[in-house]
Amino acid sequence: MRHFDYKDGEMFAEDVALREIAENVGTPCYVYSTATFERHYNVFANSFKGIDALVAYSVKANSNIGILATLAKLGAGADVVSGGELQRALTAGIPAKKIVFSGVGKTADEMRAALMAGIRVFNVESLPELYVLNGVAAEMDVKAPIAFRVNPDVTAGGHEKISTGKKENKFGIAWSHAERAYAEAASLDNIEIVGVDVHIGSQIDNLAPFEKAIAKVGDLISRLRANGHTIRSFDIGGGLGIPYGDNSITPPPPDQYGAMVKRLTADMNVEMIFEPGRMISGNAGILLSKVLYVKEGEDRKFLIVDAAMNDLLRPALYDAYHEIEPVKAPGNAYDEVTYDVVGPICESGDTFTKARDLPEMKAGELLVMHSTGAYGAAQASQYNTRPLVPEVLVKNGSYEIIRERPTIADILKTERLPSWL
Ligand SMILES: *Cc1c(COP(=O)(O)O)cnc(C)c1O
Repeated sequence: MRHFDYKDGEMFAEDVALREIAENVGTPCYVYSTATFERHYNVFANSFKGIDALVAYSVKANSNIGILATLAKLGAGADVVSGGELQRALTAGIPAKKIVFSGVGKTADEMRAALMAGIRVFNVESLPELYVLNGVAAEMDVKAPIAFRVNPDVTAGGHEKISTGKKENKFGIAWSHAERAYAEAASLDNIEIVGVDVHIGSQIDNLAPFEKAIAKVGDLISRLRANGHTIRSFDIGGGLGIPYGDNSITPPPPDQYGAMVKRLTADMNVEMIFEPGRMISGNAGILLSKVLYVKEGEDRKFLIVDAAMNDLLRPALYDAYHEIEPVKAPGNAYDEVTYDVVGPICESGDTFTKARDLPEMKAGELLVMHSTGAYGAAQASQYNTRPLVPEVLVKNGSYEIIRERPTIADILKTERLPSWL
C-alpha cells in the first residue's frame, strides 16, 4: 500500500491532502509519511527476529531529528558519519550504545565527542585514523571500541558515485592489509577490537554482491579469531536498493535480504549490525513543487517548477530518475505532453527529467517527485540564495513542520561585511 496516493481526485500523504500542505507551508517542500517509515523499518527489523541484530539507520540518508526520533521509537540505532550527525542522533533520543560511527575522515574532536557519549563502535578506515583514535582515547583514559571497515573488492551499486566496495574506491582497509591492521590494533593500549565492518555500495539491486561480501567476511572472521582476536560483531553496512518507478531495477524486498543474511551468518556467532538508509527513507518522502511557467521551446516544452537542484540534487548528481505526478488526479482520459521538467537555477544541470510524458499541466498546478525521502533534503543547499527547503512530517490525518524554511534575513545573518569596507 502506498501512503502517497490519489483519493477523491487529488493526492494525499496518508490522510492529508498535499494541496493543504502546499497552501499552509508553501512550495517547494518535502513531505514524509510516518506510516511508510514505520512499515519499512518494521519489515526489515522483523526479518531478524530471533538473532542478535542492531539496525543502525544511516543518518546521512535523511537526518532530520523528527525522522530520527520516529525511528528511535521503533528501536532503531544510528550510523553517523560526522560529529554533527552524532549530535542529531543523540538529540533525537537514540541511545549512544546503539550508535556506530563511520567515515574515512573523522577528526580528533569528533572522536572525542563520540567517546564522551559512549558510542557502540568506531568503524575505522585506515591505520593513521586508528593511531589518532588511540591517542584521543589515551588522553581520556578510555578504550575505544573499533571494527575495521574492510574493503572486500566486490562490484556493487547502481552508479559509479555510489559504488564503494571496489579496491579502487577510497573506502575501507584493503583486503590484503586486513589481518595486519587487526594485529596493529591489538598492540595499542587504548583500542579494543570488537568487530568487522563492510559497506559495499548503494542502490544495490540484487543479493549476489551481499552474498559474496558475507562469504569473504566470514572467512576473514575465522582467520582473525585464529589469530587470537575477539570478533563479536559483523556490520554489513547498508546499500539495499529501492524501486524508483522506472522499472530499471527491481531490488529484492527487505525481508528477502534479511532472510539471506540470517541464513549466511547463522554459524558465525556474531551480533549483526545493519546500516540501511535509502531502504528505510527513500520511498517515505516526496518533494512537493508548483509549476511556475510552461515554456514553449523551439522543439521542446519545459515545465519550469519552483523546486530546483539545490532542493533535490540526485538527478544532477547521479542522473537519478524520480517518478513525477500531478497532485490533481489526471482522471481517465487526459492529454499526455512530453516535458522537460526543470528548476529556476542558472545551470543546465538543474533538470529533473528530459522528454517525460506527463498529463498536461498548467502554471500554478502542483506536482510531486516521488521517492525523494533519502538523499533529498539531506543534500539540499542554499545555492542561488534559495532558502533551505522545509520538511513536513505526516502522521495519519495530522502534519507538522519538522524543518522550517529560513527567511532570507536568516541566511544573511551569518554573513559579514569585512571591516575595511
Ligand atoms: C551511505 C552509507 C550507508 C547507507 O547506504 P544506503 O544505500 O542508503 O542504504 C550505510 N553505511 C555507510 C558507511 C554509508 O556510507
